[in-house]
Amino acid sequence: MAIDPNFDENREVVDSHEGHDVWGPVDEPETQGIHGTHVAVDFDVCIADGACVEDCPVDVFEWVDTPGHPESERKADPANEIQCIDCMLCVDVCPVDAIDVDSSR
Ligand code: SF4
Repeated sequence: MAIDPNFDENREVVDSHEGHDVWGPVDEPETQGIHGTHVAVDFDVCIADGACVEDCPVDVFEWVDTPGHPESERKADPANEIQCIDCMLCVDVCPVDAIDVDSSR
């Protein structure tokens, strides 16, 4: 299942992490929610493929460990989402459509 592109209407911010919002529900370790707002990564969809981490030209993503999560035990965290230049590369390369980038958010 891909990230919900309307998550900011369908979910609520329940936490913050490394300076970005976390959108619920969160019930760790199995349910991790969506990290980020401008650059949003659905941690419950992410399989830690790593293409976004490697390809982002401005190093928005950093690995964060998520032990016990059923999809993968680390996630691409949009720790530096403020640096995003809206190239959409990460959205294009993600094999499971876990990322949504929206310049209006
Ligand atoms: S849209 Fe481009 S600059 Fe922004 S996070 Fe994705 S790869 Fe990085």
